[in-house]
Amino acid sequence: HLRERDGYAPLYSDFDNFYIRRLQLRINDCFRRPVTGVPGRFITLLDRTSEDFNLSFKLTGTTTETLNMSSYNYLGFAQADGECADAAEQSIRKYGISFCSSRADIGTSDLHLDVEKLVANFVGMEAASIHSMGFVTNASVFPALVGKGCLLISDQLNHASIRFGARISGSVIDMFKHNDMMDLERVLRERISQGQPRTHRPWRKILVAVEGLYSMEGTMCNLPGLVALKKKYKFALYVDEAHSIGALGPRGRGVCDYFGISPSEIDILMGTFTKSFGANGGYICASKAIVDKIRVTNAGTIFGESPTPAVLTQIATSLKIIAGEIAPGQGEERLQRLAFNSRYLRLGLKRLGFIVYGHDDSPIIPLLLYHPAKIPAFSHEMLKRKISVVVVGYPATPLISSRVRLCVSAAHTKDDLDRLLAACDQAGDVLQLKFSSGIAGGA
Ligand code: PMP
Repeated sequence: HLRERDGYAPLYSDFDNFYIRRLQLRINDCFRRPVTGVPGRFITLLDRTSEDFNLSFKLTGTTTETLNMSSYNYLGFAQADGECADAAEQSIRKYGISFCSSRADIGTSDLHLDVEKLVANFVGMEAASIHSMGFVTNASVFPALVGKGCLLISDQLNHASIRFGARISGSVIDMFKHNDMMDLERVLRERISQGQPRTHRPWRKILVAVEGLYSMEGTMCNLPGLVALKKKYKFALYVDEAHSIGALGPRGRGVCDYFGISPSEIDILMGTFTKSFGANGGYICASKAIVDKIRVTNAGTIFGESPTPAVLTQIATSLKIIAGEIAPGQGEERLQRLAFNSRYLRLGLKRLGFIVYGHDDSPIIPLLLYHPAKIPAFSHEMLKRKISVVVVGYPATPLISSRVRLCVSAAHTKDDLDRLLAACDQAGDVLQLKFSSGIAGGA
């Protein structure tokens, strides 16, 4: 073993890393909670001893069923029964658990080809490629598209997977202030001219990357503004729809559907199946030429395992339900329930006097706690009331903008949300979280 006294730093020694410090500070009661069962309307937590919050916690052998406000189960497709689960079970009987190969070798089945067609159709693009993980989709597709001599301009609050892919692509990276179109235009002007005559463009490609719906903020990208700038400055636009596909727009088809903008205005619509579809993996939708290029150049697909049978069937079945091809009316009902629940909870929290971030139609509702010490305290207050929530702090947010991120689902009933509002009301009093006497009724 390398030893400190020999002049080597032990591998675990990064005390400057926030996450490690947090473990040392033992405030991770609210993080890494082990669960059992389906992450649906309710979620079952495994109880653990309170005297040992560390990763080596001891399980007590008992469980607690909680109202689940933590999973990205926007349309309620995370369930162990119903059309999706039945189809997935049959799929395992026919194909087994894994294809035991990458897409590039012997891991492309008829299921993959069907799902790619379905996804391209649903998103409204010419072609789609699917990948076994959302994170890896971003991490390996940016290097497949841009590299040396290219400029990648990223929203300041883009997800870690986008930042990861951007960095390993080798492009020059610049950022603009979150959702600020004036700042994006400033970056474009500065980077395109760079003191050169207007006719010279010093970049092989320019790619602007944003998210459809930002999961820490609940904000929606300014798609009309981005499309206008794209026309003016001639860059390619990449939109990560991890949280917006299936969750936004009258037909659940994401931000283009929401804003009434044709998907053909955007170069790449990326998304994940881990949220609205209750499945796993990611996709890229684009022109056939771009998708073909990605298939043969992205390392994740070439060297990684292909998406698995049950997952593919879950994606296909949930997609067909949303599109009304299976169980007519059910998809529409789920979308309407999600839209109602999102607005109902947001308005209820505002009425109680909480500060919440984001767009009125966002199913992610960040409720501000501000002080980092209130992170475990809020989580604890909720657990006392048998509600599980995700709390977020530095470095995922600025130090004094700690927050709870409530994830609304079509699976929640109005009674569930009323129960949550009552719990927040009480916890808000205990932790002094309310910053006003609430907005006037009807506002
Ligand atoms: N993009 C965004 C915007 C995300 O929020 C996430 C994960 N939450 C990912 C990509 C990665 O997707 P996955 O969890 O499906 O790997």
